[in-house]
Amino acid sequence: MYKCKYFKIHELVPPAVLKEKGEAAWELLDERLLETLDQLREHYGPITVNNYHWGGQRKWSGLRTKESPDYKLYSQHTFGRAADCLFKHTTAEEVRKDILAKCSDSDFKWINAIEMEVSWLHVDVRNCERIKKVLPAKR
Ligand SMILES: [Zn+2]
Repeated sequence: MYKCKYFKIHELVPPAVLKEKGEAAWELLDERLLETLDQLREHYGPITVNNYHWGGQRKWSGLRTKESPDYKLYSQHTFGRAADCLFKHTTAEEVRKDILAKCSDSDFKWINAIEMEVSWLHVDVRNCERIKKVLPAKR
């Protein structure tokens, strides 16, 4: 079982899931995503996923359930395979460029898809030819 070194479970699941599952919520998240988040943190510095624990607005940036306004049945967030990241010391665009430039080597080997043209970094570990560039889903 993989638990993140740099993230607490409340940063990756919404409040209702945290309340119901507590630490068992780690089991709802793909370990490849969790490993990737730690790798991103080590490469690019502090990352915000969910921040509701500290009074912030973000609660749907990791696992999403049907209560989310952005819920989609087949979203990678629904399966615990995606996270939307904001970086303290760099921008999502810089990180995106860097990851795409490195995609042939072993860095970030579980990142299989990246969302383009958004101000956050969406990474996911879906089953596909890597690295797939996806456009944001329309609401
Ligand atoms: Zn996303």
